[in-house]
Amino acid sequence: MIRNPIPWPDGARCAVAITFDMDADSILHLAHHEQANNKVMTMSMLRYDPEVAVPRLVDLFAEFGIKQTFFLPAWCIERYPATVELILKGGHEIGHHGYLHEHPNELKPEEELYWFDRSIEAIRKATGQPPRGFRAPSYRFSAKTLDFLVERGLSYDASLMGDDIPYLLDNGEGRVVELPSHYAMDDWAHFMVARDFGYMMPIKAPSHGMDVFREEFDAAWRYGGLWISVWHPMLMGRLARAAALADLIAYMKDKGGVWFAKLEDIAAHVRKVVADGSWKPRIDRLPYYPGPIPELPRKAT
Ligand SMILES: [Zn+2]
Repeated sequence: MIRNPIPWPDGARCAVAITFDMDADSILHLAHHEQANNKVMTMSMLRYDPEVAVPRLVDLFAEFGIKQTFFLPAWCIERYPATVELILKGGHEIGHHGYLHEHPNELKPEEELYWFDRSIEAIRKATGQPPRGFRAPSYRFSAKTLDFLVERGLSYDASLMGDDIPYLLDNGEGRVVELPSHYAMDDWAHFMVARDFGYMMPIKAPSHGMDVFREEFDAAWRYGGLWISVWHPMLMGRLARAAALADLIAYMKDKGGVWFAKLEDIAAHVRKVVADGSWKPRIDRLPYYPGPIPELPRKAT
């Protein structure tokens, strides 16, 4: 099924990264700046992230002896230092996820770079090192984002959906490892309801959502793929879902041959097997097009 399977460390069948995006209330301030403070229920739902869910997830990871990756908007890093300390104490990675969850592809390039650099600085201050990886808020990776990743020396991106295994992004100046995921692996699609974001979907039972994630895992295990969740503590860290998550991790462990890893370690592995010639990656050159395709007339503005 996979034409150029990557050799995983120690002959593992697949790599698993249970990544969480701890957006907390950044997304409410971004969407409803003036009214955010008056939306108390939504605020409480979002603050469940740092107050309840992340501590629970850090405990769960410790129980299973695995280290994982958390993406935090830098504003959340500054706002919730005790939660950041818990994540770091657990040996987990903190990745770049914008400053206030702003959408890069809706900004001017200089605005995107301003928030990008401001976030790097906040991560450096809180963790003692710059971020190794980036996930664009709401997948809003812009035509300029790769240039900034290359310029600032980040090792990987985890925003795109272009393959089932790692691949490389090349802008002509440098390369970044892409660690892709896809919508089925995002818990919003299965569990999110929030009137203040205009997001009203039927909620699945934890077991039904888990069926999707487990079947994705079974395929990754069978064919040598990469399984990356794009989850949110306030959704997957809720009691019944966290219990189902514990069962899923136990299932993966029982199956054997699974490499549980932080994304920075997966990116480092990819760079190693590419450098020593033991694997030839697929390469995407970005941007895909220099502008709108010429086959259609440009609209007069
Ligand atoms: Zn996010």
